Amino acid sequence: MKDCIFCKIAGGEIPSKKIYEDDSILAFHDANPQAPVHFLVIPKRHIANLMELGAEDIPLAGTLLHKAQELASELGCAEKGARFVINCKSDGGQTVDHLHLHVLAGRQMDWPPG
Ligand code: C5P
Repeated sequence: MKDCIFCKIAGGEIPSKKIYEDDSILAFHDANPQAPVHFLVIPKRHIANLMELGAEDIPLAGTLLHKAQELASELGCAEKGARFVINCKSDGGQTVDHLHLHVLAGRQMDWPPG
């Protein structure tokens, strides 16, 4: 999508600190990290938010989740765990309208979230 910042990151138009990439997904370090480990996993195809995920996207969602935990493990988070977050639309605190999974780790997380 033309004006989407994450589409531009996925297309290489905007640089990112890339961790992993394949045909369907991209993982990169968050530009404004909220924990010692904070990266995002996104589908390359523009999906605005989780509410827009279709039944045909179930394999993509599985790939995204599985890669998120695999990368978290590779970054040393297997033992103590991590927080996996998808903010969705305005009440959910989503600021970039391209589906993304946050992976945060390396410190104790609080609950409930703000
Ligand atoms: O869930 P939410 O939409 O608020 O998260 C967007 C995230 O995208 C933020 O954590 C922000 O730091 C990150 N971001 C980024 N690189 C950009 C723009 C935003 O990592 N160029």
